Amino acid sequence: GPALLFVKTSQGKEEGRRFYACSACRDRKDCNFFQWEDEKVSEARLAAREEYNRSQQPCFTHRQNVDRYKNFVLLPLSKRRFCQECQQLLLPAEWKKHSDHQLLCDITTAQLKNPSQLLYPLENKKTNAQYLFTDRSCQFLLNLLIDLGFRRVLSVGTPRLHEMIQSKASQEKEFNVRGLLLDIDFRYSQFYTEDEFCHYNMFNHHFFGGEAARETCRKFLCEENGERVIMVTDPPFGGLVEALASSFKKLMAMWSETEKEGHDNREMPVFWIFPYFFESRILDFFPSFSMMDYQVDYDRFALYKHGKTGRRQSPVRIFTNLTPSMIVLPEEEGYRFCSVCQRYVSSGNQHCEICNSCTSKDGRRWKHCVLCKKCVKPSWFHCNNCKCCTLQQHSCEKTDSGCFVCGKAGHKRSACPSLSRS
Ligand code: SAH
Ligand code: ZN
Ligand code: ZN
Ligand code: ZN
Ligand code: ZN
Repeated sequence: GPALLFVKTSQGKEEGRRFYACSACRDRKDCNFFQWEDEKVSEARLAAREEYNRSQQPCFTHRQNVDRYKNFVLLPLSKRRFCQECQQLLLPAEWKKHSDHQLLCDITTAQLKNPSQLLYPLENKKTNAQYLFTDRSCQFLLNLLIDLGFRRVLSVGTPRLHEMIQSKASQEKEFNVRGLLLDIDFRYSQFYTEDEFCHYNMFNHHFFGGEAARETCRKFLCEENGERVIMVTDPPFGGLVEALASSFKKLMAMWSETEKEGHDNREMPVFWIFPYFFESRILDFFPSFSMMDYQVDYDRFALYKHGKTGRRQSPVRIFTNLTPSMIVLPEEEGYRFCSVCQRYVSSGNQHCEICNSCTSKDGRRWKHCVLCKKCVKPSWFHCNNCKCCTLQQHSCEKTDSGCFVCGKAGHKRSACPSLSRS
């Protein structure tokens, strides 16, 4: 889909040169598309680009994949094979072509219902960054949605949640939640129909399936028979918040437009799952959102381990425009309700009398600094040189590159003042 317009700035300079680059791939190695905003592109280069794009198309369309699936499930177990190299369900006539590939045999119905376990997770950090929820977190999310009364879940980049919904819908009679998955990972088109999956880019709101796919999404957002809908999204963490917010606003607008009388100025309910240090960035775009203390856990996510207990602390939270007091967090995992803040908080998150709020962002107990007039991380101390709380080992006012969160010079992400805004 469409490229995004970026600007190259060097520190201290206001004006930078603008250029277009791929919205989905943040690594030039994955997609080297680059074009200055004012660049004239020759016919020959345009033709070469089109040629390249054609060569990168998947070998089957979504429609073809749906037909192939129908044939696949008719096969006896012994003839159901999946090519791990091509990440493709194979029909017997194709076995030969894949004879020197690694194949998985005897693909069961259960495996077909859990494609996220069958497919190789695309680990490429900058593009797909597929980190799957643990069963515990996924089950928690689904139960929460059901308890809140939602009957339709628009999963944007949450294939694991989608498959849990689809799988229960096909197995449990009383289960009446429906789902639609929007994801850039086209491999899912092998397992879901056009009504269950749309190939979608959440950085530019592009539906690869064109108007028909867009219409599928719009229809899904219509709350027929009072079936309330919620959007759940878990984007790659390296993604640009601006671009994501712009797409989510378009999806929310799609929902708003479905209702003729309007939704009394309500917004489409959203769960945006993202690390806590993006709080201020998300709130910049969505002032109606607030961050929940629940720590979303991932499989194979050994990245963030800290704390003496050795317990894995996840930095990932739920941001939502629903009333915080409605988001009930599991007491058996140590969450408790703060009656002053009117929301569930982590066990370590103490209510600060001076801030009049439960101020911890990372689950550990934070301490109040009278000089900064706010609560700070337990490991911080007040530096009189910098006139703020920061890590013990820091070089006063010396940080050459801009902060990853707010872009300003003078501090790193971990010390960003905008993070602890309440
Ligand atoms: N925790 C989720 C998966 C999150 S991983 C779960 O368990 O369901 C991020 C997801 O976003 C992946 O499914 C990935 O394919 C998808 N994704 C990555 N870039 C995308 C883009 N540009 N547009 C849409 N989806 C994207
Ligand atoms: Zn193969
Ligand atoms: Zn509180
Ligand atoms: Zn405080
Ligand atoms: Zn301080």
